[in-house]
Amino acid sequence: MYFRPSGRRKNAVNSMENQTRRLLLVALLVFLCGCQPKASHHPAPTSCPSSDISTYFSPNGGCTDAIVEALDGAKLTIGVQAYSFTSAPIAKALVDAHKRGVQVVAILDKSQETEKYTEADFLLHAGIPVWIDGQHKIAHNKVMIIDSETVITGSFNFTKAAETENAENLLVIRSPDLAAQYRANMDLHLGHSELYAGK
Ligand SMILES: [Zn+2]
Repeated sequence: MYFRPSGRRKNAVNSMENQTRRLLLVALLVFLCGCQPKASHHPAPTSCPSSDISTYFSPNGGCTDAIVEALDGAKLTIGVQAYSFTSAPIAKALVDAHKRGVQVVAILDKSQETEKYTEADFLLHAGIPVWIDGQHKIAHNKVMIIDSETVITGSFNFTKAAETENAENLLVIRSPDLAAQYRANMDLHLGHSELYAGK
């Protein structure tokens, strides 16, 4: 049987719990922002002016729309790392970006070579260089890096099922520093990937 505090003790326990929750929330915000509060006797601000984060959750929480909107706004470069890739609207947004002069490059898992239905061929036929990273058991990244300033990542695969059926999360993070770190990691994988020849 659970202990059920009552009266003033309950209030005291609730107050302590609330304080603990606030402290945990502040710690989480600091961790997510990657910022260290300045040494001060006053409560430290945890905002990060240089970063801007949006979150989305599947099913049907707008993940696909958020990705397409970000891709539609791309001006210079888009780097894609994907495990499973069957989302027609996301593939179309990549091809549209390519057509308006954005430099697009995609690294996909080797399973994309053998799966029947995949957007790898769609991208390839549109003229987008598609690379296959076969150096890992699975190349499980789901990442987009846009214009060296936006990173899109999360559990969300670029698939219809991830949008409509699965429990997934997606972060759209505007941070040049983070984008540089993801780009460096993408370049690492690009270095041992092979160009996809198509089916
Ligand atoms: Zn790799």
